[in-house]
Amino acid sequence: MSDGFQTLNPAEIINENVVCDLCHSDQTTPVHQFSWMGYQGHFVKCTSCGLIYQNPRPVAESRFKLFQSLEYWNHQQAQKQRSRDFLNYNSYLGESEWRKRTSQIRLKWITPHIPKGARVLDIGCADGQFADTLAQGGFDASGMDISLPMIEAGRKRYDVNLIHGALEGDWPDCGQFDAITCIASLSTFSSPKAVFANVQKHLKKGGIFFFNYGDYDRVLSRMFGARYPYFRLSATYLYTSETIQKYCTQAGLDLRMKWTDMQVIPIIRPFKDLGFPKTAQFMSAIGLDQTMIKVPIPIGYFAYAIIA
Ligand SMILES: [Zn+2]
Repeated sequence: MSDGFQTLNPAEIINENVVCDLCHSDQTTPVHQFSWMGYQGHFVKCTSCGLIYQNPRPVAESRFKLFQSLEYWNHQQAQKQRSRDFLNYNSYLGESEWRKRTSQIRLKWITPHIPKGARVLDIGCADGQFADTLAQGGFDASGMDISLPMIEAGRKRYDVNLIHGALEGDWPDCGQFDAITCIASLSTFSSPKAVFANVQKHLKKGGIFFFNYGDYDRVLSRMFGARYPYFRLSATYLYTSETIQKYCTQAGLDLRMKWTDMQVIPIIRPFKDLGFPKTAQFMSAIGLDQTMIKVPIPIGYFAYAIIA
């Protein structure tokens, strides 16, 4: 499981100051301060356009290390080694069974919009599990991700084309696509503007961009307060539907529709995540640890936009 994954030492993270990715202003107000294993991070809000982002934030090299790390992809195993603070995924590769069921929901949402056999690229694909779901659904699917250990794990698991690379830079010569998907990744990019520009460049005329995002303006997001789950090192940006609309407009994408995202999760997970470990232990003891439920994600949206 730990093949190729590195250890992330928070003391070695190097920071830089950045300006707003959306409007280039450097005027901000503080939003939230968080800590992870001694690392202190700050989210600020651009006073000009409203984009919420981490500033200062890890430099490109430190961000690259983050996405190769066991701490990011497998908290369970990293915790045994050293860290107690949760960073991102409990066990990404170990939880693929219920991720596959969530992928089936999203496949159903996407399928009516694009013809069978269409070329689809999943960006921020991790091990390519969703790209594989797309391939099983009859599409000519590929995936691309910055994490080399995840791409290598995926090449062993799935029979889809997986590309290793940063989505913010120039994409390899992969041509144009009928659709591009981006699931649970939009908050992690160093420059969403650069990614949206690449999406625009690599979509065919009339092509569709499908993506999901957490919306910080939703009532339930605000109710989380300091426990809002995206206040973490790996989330470079926090979005609202307003800032997402601005990114789409900048990239010549017409945002057509959004709806509350859904996931299939183990029934005990909300109790674990929200700080009720004893309830989770009890549910596990009575045999509910393998029980899955389909739940709406009331802090996030699934959306699609069409290129003009
Ligand atoms: Zn701004």
